[in-house]
Amino acid sequence: MASKFQAPRGTFDVLPEQGRSRARVQHAAGRIFARAGYEPIATPAFEDTDLFVRGVGRSTDIVRKEMFTFEDKGGRSLTLRPEGTAPICRSYLEHGMHKLAQPVKLSYVGPFFRHERPQAGRYRQFHQLGMECIGTESPLADAEAIMLLHDLLAELGVPGVELRLGSLGSFAARQSYLEELKAHLHAHEGDLSRDVRERIDVNPLRAFDADDEGTRGVMAEAPTIVAALEGEDAEHFAEVRSLLDAAGVSYEVDPTLVRGLDYYTRTIFSFVCDSLGAQSEVGGGGRYDGLIEQLGGPATPAVGWAAGIERILLALGEEEAVAGRDAFVAVADPGQRQRAMVLVTELRNAGLSAEVDLGGRGLKGQFKHADRIGARRVVILEADGTAQLRDMESGEQRPVETANLIEEMTGGEK
Ligand code: ATP
Ligand code: MG
Repeated sequence: MASKFQAPRGTFDVLPEQGRSRARVQHAAGRIFARAGYEPIATPAFEDTDLFVRGVGRSTDIVRKEMFTFEDKGGRSLTLRPEGTAPICRSYLEHGMHKLAQPVKLSYVGPFFRHERPQAGRYRQFHQLGMECIGTESPLADAEAIMLLHDLLAELGVPGVELRLGSLGSFAARQSYLEELKAHLHAHEGDLSRDVRERIDVNPLRAFDADDEGTRGVMAEAPTIVAALEGEDAEHFAEVRSLLDAAGVSYEVDPTLVRGLDYYTRTIFSFVCDSLGAQSEVGGGGRYDGLIEQLGGPATPAVGWAAGIERILLALGEEEAVAGRDAFVAVADPGQRQRAMVLVTELRNAGLSAEVDLGGRGLKGQFKHADRIGARRVVILEADGTAQLRDMESGEQRPVETANLIEEMTGGEK
């Protein structure tokens, strides 16, 4: 029956077959994070609006156009979180995590919210998984972060992934470069899009991200920050690259790479996938040495990334095949139901996926159901206490001792 309600614009329901693919992505990430010592953290779905204004930056698209901001009944301005890093830094400060052994290594997964124009790979509620390594400026942390996302995408089998790498230099060193860039933009104001022109003085780096032809022409001639790196910034970037080289992670240095949040310093990176079209980034991040100080804490260097779960799933392409079941336990007689329930529990405890009829079906109906859920074998409990085991693929059926069933079903497959 059709309802007059639909999921809000830019949102979607995760239906069971999609839920399976999502779970696979999250499990893979969970394993990779755990092996490398990144502990899970969860923060609220909404925060004080000012956290994002300060943390993400007033001149960014996120803060200017994309936030779901509302006033609560107490008159506070709150915002559904558009990203995870500022909230995690807020939590780091609030809970005095700077007193723990550094760096503090954290991972997260959850929904995020941005008021964007919905299209493939771009939603108003989407899901990110990510990590933050807070309290070290070592280039090893940058390389470790990049390698974790690299390994995740490789393990999941995301095809056609490329890594782009850049460096923005430290905040202080960046200032003289920004003056140079602003001068270049002012000199070509007439060719820039209105959006870029209006932001020359507040966010000149964003001009590298513009997609209109005029601005792109101007940017092709613009000075790049990678070329302007010097001293410790240049050394830091060189070290990150040589660590990636040593680990066999291939990348392309992209001097025009920028990111949509103000807080980045030094290393930035982006994993793109050509099959994704316009929304080509599966995940990205970088170093944000100034963010915690910006939020009122002590100077604390940190690095992290976030990947979009929907983009990973889109890049993976096909829906995952039906998972199927190892066994379905059918009863030839309703008197065998208790025994069926006991048996199905034993099978599950032995690590097998098994189901029992919950719909009061006759034996024929149970077989039909077993077929629909992709059961590979059906155990039939007969009225006289004996049992049969049927292989659903070959149709072969033979008597079986239920006491030996688990061994029969797991044996030879290990
Ligand atoms: P884009 O340039 O595609 O807008 P972004 O720079 O805004 O990306 P980040 O803020 O770095 O992206 O977010 C990290 C990841 O989250 C992105 O790489 C992408 O996979 C995903 N992501 C960002 N915005 C959305 C969205 N509206 N819908 C779905 N996924 C998103
Ligand atoms: Mg964006």
